[in-house]
This record gives sequence, C-alpha cells and structure tokens, in this order.
Amino acid sequence: MAEHLIAGSKYTPEDGLTGAQLVTSGSGLTYNDFILLPGFINFTTDEVDLSSPLTKHISLKTPFVSSPMDTVTEANMAIAMALMGGIGILHHNCPPEFQASQARSVKKYKQGFIVDPVVLSPNKTVSDVYRIKQERGFCGIPVTDTGDVNGKLLGLIAARDIDLIGKDRSVTPVEEVMTPRRDLVIAHHGCSLDEANHILQESKKGKLPIVNENDELVALIARTDLKKSRDFPLASKDDLNRLRVGAAVSTHEEDKTRIEVLVAQDVDVVVLVDTTTDSSQGNSIYEMEMIHYIKKAYPELQVIGGNVVTAAQAKNLIDCGVDALRVGMGSGSICITQEVTAVGRPQGTAVYKVAEYARRFGVPVIADGGIQNVGHIVKALALGGSTVMMGSLLAGTNESPGEFFFQDGVRLKKYRGMGSLPAMEQKGSMARYFSDTDKLKVAQGVSGSVVDKGSVYGFIPYLYAGVQHGCQDIGARSLTQLRQMMYGGELKFERRSPSAQVEGGVHGLHSYEKRYY
Ligand code: IMP
Repeated sequence: MAEHLIAGSKYTPEDGLTGAQLVTSGSGLTYNDFILLPGFINFTTDEVDLSSPLTKHISLKTPFVSSPMDTVTEANMAIAMALMGGIGILHHNCPPEFQASQARSVKKYKQGFIVDPVVLSPNKTVSDVYRIKQERGFCGIPVTDTGDVNGKLLGLIAARDIDLIGKDRSVTPVEEVMTPRRDLVIAHHGCSLDEANHILQESKKGKLPIVNENDELVALIARTDLKKSRDFPLASKDDLNRLRVGAAVSTHEEDKTRIEVLVAQDVDVVVLVDTTTDSSQGNSIYEMEMIHYIKKAYPELQVIGGNVVTAAQAKNLIDCGVDALRVGMGSGSICITQEVTAVGRPQGTAVYKVAEYARRFGVPVIADGGIQNVGHIVKALALGGSTVMMGSLLAGTNESPGEFFFQDGVRLKKYRGMGSLPAMEQKGSMARYFSDTDKLKVAQGVSGSVVDKGSVYGFIPYLYAGVQHGCQDIGARSLTQLRQMMYGGELKFERRSPSAQVEGGVHGLHSYEKRYY
C-alpha cells in the first residue's frame, strides 16, 4: 500500500496541450476557442507582478495600452492610462499641432496641478464668470493681464465676489470685484503637492495660484482636486518624472513633420500606422522606409511597427529595427477587414506566432484588438503578448473623447473604427485604409456606440486585479514567469468545443445581473 503511494506521488500526469501544440493544428484560434488549465498556487494575488515590456527600452507596470483611435485616446485617456501604469497612444486623426498639444498636456501633467486652467483678463465681465460657472461647474478663476496662463497674476475671482451683483453683471468688469493680487495666498513654482496642500489647509482657500519668479501664473491647484487625489504607485514615468505617452503617426511622407512636432514634446514612443497600403497590413515598403527614417533621425525614439499577424511579416519590420510589434488584423470589434479583404488571422494564433518569432530578437508584442473581457487579456498574455491594446473596452468611459448620449434609455458613447467612413471623412484619417486618390471609399470599419463604463480609474484596477487572479490560478507569480511557463511547455491549454464555450459562460438561468466589480 505504502509502496503504491510513493510510486504514485512520483508520477506526473500528462494533461493538456503546450502553446506550440495548441496552435499547430491547422485552423486559427480566437481567444474563445481555448482555455488555460490551472496550475499550483503558493502565493496571493497581490504578489502577482504584472510588469511587462512595451518596447525594447520601455517597460510598463500595467500591461495595458489604449488604442490610437479618435473615440478612445486623447490627453485625458493617456493621462489616466499612464497614471495607472499603462500607456495611451494618441490618435492621429487630427492636425499634428492638435496631437502635439495633447502630448504636451500629458507631459506637463502633475498630479493635483492644473496646468491649463481657465483664466480671465481684467476687462471681462461678471457675466463671463457666470457663463463659465454654468458651462464648467466652477468659478474660482485666476485673472491675468493677458487673460491667459503665463500672464501676470492680477487677482482671482470666486463665487462670493459675484453673488451679490445683479443686473449690472454685463457691465461690471472682473477687476472691480476680484480679490486683488496683494490679498491672494499663492505658492511658488516648484513647490511640491504636499507643500501646496499644506498652504491650502492653512489658508482655507478653495484655489491656490502657482506663480513663477516674475509673478506670472503657471498653474492652479483646486482644493476639491486635492481631496480626490490619491497615489498612483504604478505610474509610467520617463527619466524626468513625467508621464509617458505614445502617438500614432502614418507612413506618409508629410508625417515626417508630425513626427518632428511630437518629438519636440518628448513623446516616448510612436506607433506606425501604414496609410500608404490602404490597410492595417504593416509589412510594406512604405513602413520599412519610415522605420529606417525614424531610427536614423531620432535614434532615441521607440518605434512600434505593425500591424502584423505572421512571422514573415514580423521579420521585415524587425530587420528594420522596430522596438515592438502590434499584432492583429481583422480582430477588432469595429473591424470588417476580414469580411472585405479576406485577409487577416484569428487573434489567438496571430499573437502566438508573432510573439514566438519576435522574442528571439527581444522584440515585445502588443496584442491589439479583440479583447472583450479580462479573460481575453490573460489569454493574450499567456500566448506570448507582452501587453494588450484595447479599443472598445476603453471607449465609453469618462476619459474617452466625445459626449455621452441616451438611446432607448441607455447612456452611450460613440465608438468607431478608424477605417469607418465617418472617421475617414475627417481629415487625417483619409489615408489609412485607402489611398487618397481612390474614387470609391472602401470602409474597413464600422461606426457604432458602446455603453457607459464609468471611469477608467475604476475599470483599469478591475482589469489589473482580474489578470492577477488569472495568473494566480495558472501558478505564475509574474508575467515573466507566465511566458517562461508557456515557452517551457509547463503552461497547458485546451481547445474548447462550441458546447464547452457555452458551458464556460453563464447558462441555465431565467435571469441574472452581471456585475463585474
Ligand atoms: P477592439 O479593442 O476590439 O475594439 O479593437 C481595437 C483595434 O481595432 C485597434 O487598436 C486597431 O488595431 C483596430 N482598428 C481600429 N479601427 C479599425 C478599422 O476601422 N478597421 C479595422 N481595424 C480597426
């Protein structure tokens, strides 16, 4: 009996498929087509480290990237993503100056400091203050000689300065009723958030203007923001302690100017979007030439190439010196590329095949598109992706561009493919999915809407914790270990039949409420 037990304990049962076995049986796999088998747990979820490389030289503490789409990433999203340890890639469906101004907002962001506050000039009227109060919901407004940030600080106008002014509003200039500079409590440029906090506590004021040595306004601190402020220990920062940000650029010759203005704002990474080939197929002579150009002109700038879905495509871009690859063709939620062009690849197989090749050259892979839930993120990372790029999951949040609207009683936000006709009609997008000279526009994306998801400041921590849980079930303490387990054959997968997929979801209930966090 005892002998039997000892012999039994030495026996390691063979079960499941390795990553290589999973993808080598002909048909391509989507994330839903397979499942991961559980491993052994000897650590808590909090211990799971999700640090992972974005590019050869940039590592993120949270492996999440927001997609360069005009309904997903502008400055607000990029700031939020970077604060929580990921990165946002600013879309380029806009003039280069606008994109550069968005990059500047991210780089200048200092938690708690409003670097582009609403400012008035002294000759504006009390009516203007009421208008701002109505539109923006606040009215502690600095007054400078130029009516702009960087102007000489002359005073500050607050609610109690104007609440007794009745019909003379439109003729009473701000300078007559504001608190003048000599009576203001201010802080000096360079002060820390803690110091500013202390000054606000002591003075009991609502707003604290920050001035430089010439008494020019450089920023503003709001008491309400300080109350909300919290720590972001995972934040993605550059060597100068500024938030990291990326930006999309096209392969068009004229985008060399765009790259120049973006580099002037110190963007950390550019993501190449191949506009010359009419598609998201990144293996082209145009993209290769652009990579060569950027690497020569700006050797420090990290360049992400793509999109690719095969090792052969990846080879060309790696040979040109890309610092990371974006993987996905036809898997995006708004995408009709596969339907229209008959070209692409199921995303699970694409991520595995490209990552398995690119890792030999130390080139990380971004699994781009098709992420519908947190489990898909775990699967993308388990197949060798270093980070995931998301569009639809982040669209419809408070931080994505655009306004919420109601339809059939549901609060929605617009979400559209960059190759959809409406997006292409906007200047700048015209070239991505077909050449400028084409008479007939062939869309490769659709335009639609997604439901209100609240703030990414709540949603990203949920995704992060979900991935930690996935790694714990697998038995991986970190994403590095997850990849080692996968390539070492220790991580086991299994295909899911259509009925297994049904079984893996909620089933058999008359009704239920699905709340994620
Ligand atoms: P999602 O996360 O599934 O919504 O996919 C987002 C990804 O779809 C983006 O990061 C792009 O790679 C891709 N994409 C964006 N716009 C289009 C389009 O119009 N056609 C095809 N793919 C698109």
